[in-house]
Amino acid sequence: MTPELASLAQQVKGFMPHHEGLALYRAARAVASRGPLVEIGAYCGKSAVYLGAAAAEAGGVLFTVDHHRGSEEMQAGWEHHDPDLVDPRTGRFDSLPQLRRTLERAGLEDVVVAVVGDSVTIAAHWSDAALVFIDGGHGPAPAHADYEAWSPRVMPGGLLAIHDVFPDPAHGGRPPYEIWLRARDDGYLEHAAVGSLRVLQKRETVSGPVR
Ligand code: SAH
Ligand code: MG
Repeated sequence: MTPELASLAQQVKGFMPHHEGLALYRAARAVASRGPLVEIGAYCGKSAVYLGAAAAEAGGVLFTVDHHRGSEEMQAGWEHHDPDLVDPRTGRFDSLPQLRRTLERAGLEDVVVAVVGDSVTIAAHWSDAALVFIDGGHGPAPAHADYEAWSPRVMPGGLLAIHDVFPDPAHGGRPPYEIWLRARDDGYLEHAAVGSLRVLQKRETVSGPVR
């Protein structure tokens, strides 16, 4: 990853520690020439810079999905609320202008496509992905819904990355950890683990005799 993008990523508002972002970049770099990368949870584009850097180097593309209305814990009065991300015209949360600014500053507008809408709705019409990174709604219902909707989209041999996986409940919420357990039960192989980032690999389909 270029020093310029590494430095920019660290300046962007968001929830991705640098060492985890670098691990995400490395995972994405390994598969980005095989198909599109998909991120669930763009927010202001912090993790999209790491993924986008990998896509750019590999001649690939990143689709970054978000409705940009914020998760429950980002609404006014909640723990992760940021008043700078409220649209003064409507009083509603809106992180899309920040995402555009990040992609412009990063020079990644031709490599990263913002997909604005509900994750599960988009998944229902998606074909496949070389990597799916799940970092959207972190409550039980949205996390499990994202896993169920997006896991089938991961190509054989492709990667499923999950953020905020905390085996110890003292360190964070359960749902991302629960979907990581589900993925392992479903046969994914462990690929990488850095901080709360987990990367799993879907098995290659065992090919039968060629006729
Ligand atoms: N990856 C980001 C952080 C994402 S925060 C970073 O690196 O900083 C989680 C994001 O998920 C929020 O922006 C929220 O709007 C989005 N989100 C939550 N539920 C969603 C849903 N059902 N569909 C699309 N986006 C959703
Ligand atoms: Mg996260």
